[in-house]
Amino acid sequence: MLASKLYSPTLREIPSDAEIASHQYMLKAGMIRKNGNGLYSFLPLGRRVELKIEAIVREEMDKTGAQEIMMPIVQPAEIWHESGRWDAYGPEMFKLTDRHDNKYCLGPTHEELITTLVRNELRSYKQLPLTLWQMQNKYRDEIRPRLGLMRSREFVMKDGYSFDADEAGLHQNYQIMYDAYTRVFTRCGLQFKQVEADSGQIGGSHTHEFMALAGAGEAEVVSCSQCDYAADIEKATPAPIEMAAETPGNVELIETPHCATIADLAEFLQIPVEKTIKAVAFNIDGKKTVLCMVRGDHEVNDVAVQNFVGGNAIEPATEEELKAHGLQPGYMSPMDADTPDNETFFVLVDPTAMNVPNGVTGANKLGYHYKNVNAKRDFKNVTVTTIRNMTEGDCCPKCGAPVNIMRGIEVGQVFELGTKYSESLQATFLDQDGKAKPFYMGCYGIGVTRTMAAIIEQYHDEHGIMWPVAVAPYKIAVLPLNMKDEEMASVATDLYETFLAQTPDVVLDDRKERAGVKFNDADLIGYPVQVVVGKDTKTNGTVEVKVRRTGVKEIVPKEQAVARVQ
Ligand code: ATP
Ligand code: MG
Ligand code: MG
Ligand code: MG
Repeated sequence: MLASKLYSPTLREIPSDAEIASHQYMLKAGMIRKNGNGLYSFLPLGRRVELKIEAIVREEMDKTGAQEIMMPIVQPAEIWHESGRWDAYGPEMFKLTDRHDNKYCLGPTHEELITTLVRNELRSYKQLPLTLWQMQNKYRDEIRPRLGLMRSREFVMKDGYSFDADEAGLHQNYQIMYDAYTRVFTRCGLQFKQVEADSGQIGGSHTHEFMALAGAGEAEVVSCSQCDYAADIEKATPAPIEMAAETPGNVELIETPHCATIADLAEFLQIPVEKTIKAVAFNIDGKKTVLCMVRGDHEVNDVAVQNFVGGNAIEPATEEELKAHGLQPGYMSPMDADTPDNETFFVLVDPTAMNVPNGVTGANKLGYHYKNVNAKRDFKNVTVTTIRNMTEGDCCPKCGAPVNIMRGIEVGQVFELGTKYSESLQATFLDQDGKAKPFYMGCYGIGVTRTMAAIIEQYHDEHGIMWPVAVAPYKIAVLPLNMKDEEMASVATDLYETFLAQTPDVVLDDRKERAGVKFNDADLIGYPVQVVVGKDTKTNGTVEVKVRRTGVKEIVPKEQAVARVQ
């Protein structure tokens, strides 16, 4: 490729809404352009990178025996009604209506489509296992599209779906995809972790996310400092709270007449409320109660918590109510303090968490709370099922060592779906025993365009991108310092052609620009190897080979340049 012909309009100024390196550099280097909120065009350099990632994914999928297909982006509403997800999916789904008033969506994912695609035609256990996959644009009307390709509304996803006769087969397929994804992200050069995750609204049970570790990540990863435990913060559960300490308490019953929410209460009591953590439900002598903890750096925004505080001392929560709020029942014995014989407690604990006095609980008496509650001391026989998010230094649930909290970018996820979709969509096969059975399904997604952003987040400096060779738009840039010098230009062109005979991944910067401009652009775009052709090339036949990532420069005879950049 000749740089003079390359369509990569570079920017001098970074648009003000680009907050993170990947977004900034892709815009600045002319790799992508924004066409609307969360909608991007890929210009030639960006498209090349995207295609390289696709190629890696395709090679690794081929190795597993999974077969590539292509399904429509526009999906009929009926199949989503059948699975029950037309409404459940929520406002993230782009919905549309055709001229005959038929309803459709733009596929945010394809579980429904693939399941109805194979039902009636994938009939026998003899055809199993089967894994089908595609590389396609996905559409999600994200509430907050942001950070460029990290969270866009149209993005490229590789999505795959496996069909098995039984659970053991599904486990096997899951492992095959898990391993393939590990190879994909390794080949992309990413530092990443496979973490245990919540399955969310897609359903299913067993699932891992692949998290590229980067400060710009929107997700949080809990990672043990000693063992291999790693989980999404949404999934990670701290070790249960220790038993009560045998220290005397100074629990105080105080009147709090006008407090409907945690925020009200905190203001009234003049205690800091910095974080609402997942509420915890306990079971006190067969009756349910909720323990809310407030700590750290979040807003008080948990509707469930607020509702329950609002309902303080009025009605103990039922199990259904707890579940409706995503809370899990657990067990807790009553407080040592002068507890009225009602059952509902609400606890506000100040920033440093459970074992610090100064917490506040509901008192099961309308308009009253307890102050100076130390949950560890004042609550006995506590068994916690769902609790706050883990924080730095908490004990690993597996080995007890302190955990670290890191930021991560979810670049992929694998799920064991089980029979959720095959049952709701009635996709069955005939098993060896002649009986019709629902498929055991798995689904597997890679955010291809998000992966591109994640790579830049990990590989950049103040000058621009430092692509790993495997995904670089071009591997080598030949940079003649002065194209007006005919001899220099001809040496550079010869060298370029020699490279070109070996690889298509080479650019000749044949623009009549100053050397400084060429160096800056080459660093910004992030070609892994730069070969500088200058005066020395003319006088003694040497070129300078610079490795972008390390900055290491080497002077070599131009005949050796090709061998040197292999
Ligand atoms: P997130 O938690 O970031 O919203 P998700 O869990 O909703 O992602 P999945 O349904 O697991 O996403 O989709 C598979 C992959 O698609 C994700 O792991 C991610 O890499 C990618 N992806 C999801 N949403 C987006 C988006 N809005 N923009 C770019 N890539 C995305
Ligand atoms: Mg999402
Ligand atoms: Mg997610
Ligand atoms: Mg996910």
